[in-house]
Amino acid sequence: MKGKKHIYKIEPYQPGKPIEEVKRELGLSDVIKLASNENPLGPSPRALEAMRKSLENVSYYPDGNCAILREKLSQKLGFPPSTFVFGNGVDEIIHFIGLAFLDEGDEAIMVDPSFVRYEAAVLLNKAICRKIPLRDFQYDVDGIIDAINERTKVIFIANPNNPTGTFLSKEKLGRLVQEAEGKLIVLDEAYYEFVDDSSFPDSLSYLREGKDLIILRTFSKIYGLAGLRIGYGVAKEETIQAIEHTREPFNVNYLAQVAAVAALDDEEHLRRTQRTIWEGKRYLYEQFEKMGLFYLPTQANFIFVDVKRDSREVFQALLREGVIVRTGDIFGCPTFLRVSIGTMEQNERFIKALRKVLGGAD
Ligand code: PMP
Repeated sequence: MKGKKHIYKIEPYQPGKPIEEVKRELGLSDVIKLASNENPLGPSPRALEAMRKSLENVSYYPDGNCAILREKLSQKLGFPPSTFVFGNGVDEIIHFIGLAFLDEGDEAIMVDPSFVRYEAAVLLNKAICRKIPLRDFQYDVDGIIDAINERTKVIFIANPNNPTGTFLSKEKLGRLVQEAEGKLIVLDEAYYEFVDDSSFPDSLSYLREGKDLIILRTFSKIYGLAGLRIGYGVAKEETIQAIEHTREPFNVNYLAQVAAVAALDDEEHLRRTQRTIWEGKRYLYEQFEKMGLFYLPTQANFIFVDVKRDSREVFQALLREGVIVRTGDIFGCPTFLRVSIGTMEQNERFIKALRKVLGGAD
């Protein structure tokens, strides 16, 4: 049975290669994955403990409202409980946004390259993607503003952006919010906790002013819970209410809710992860400089680096060394690799493998 015509415009998502698959295919015993921007320190120990204690409850359906987590985030961020929505990962909330706000012929603006799931959410609803190229890998805010018209419904901004790790500054976001009155800005802050630049915007302040934006955050990255699939959005109540009409009743599983509540209290794990990533990025910057490789300074837990040759070949050669990364071709940058920042041991192993593969690039 053939599916509906328009769905074939959507490329099925290509996830990072799983460790077990690489071990099996290449007969390797020791493989590291620096491909999906996961937490190299693993899950929050508090989250693990909370889940262990709760395992027996899995015979019950989860709370479809995520009430405990909702209350906790409400306290933490200072917004009413009714202004939150929860998803099976931020991925699912992006999908809900498409369902709730995009009709056939509507336009959604996004930059290129950026996170690929925005496009899928748009095309699924027969809406149109207006892609604004990055300029020197940075957000072209004037280009975005120029693309806004009466058909524009949604503007997707990953801040920091994936795959570049670059970001939209306070000043630029302020201008965009001003010019996009009446449109929904989706501010995807999946990597927000890794930011260390003081010109990064305080997005919640715009929400406090009553602007039309939805801020997305996830437990997959700094909290180390990617396998559980849980993320949230915070927005005006009216926006959340619209999304609620598209949400399935038990979309966030029980263990994910338990783990997320506990992880929010695990300040130590969060700080330790931040230190690991910040130290790792300084090390990788240094090494790339020594190797003469151009890279983009990052505000996330990954780095986009130009290896100056076909990144698919470099990717394959790194695989044989037991290191999984991401190629840039899927983002339209065929000589770039995206590498997640790991533990220092993993970073050193990656650099050693990269040096070997590139033949001691100068
Ligand atoms: N947004 C961006 C920018 C991402 O890079 C990712 C992770 N690949 C997501 C959203 C999805 O996050 P989640 O695991 O919460 O679905």
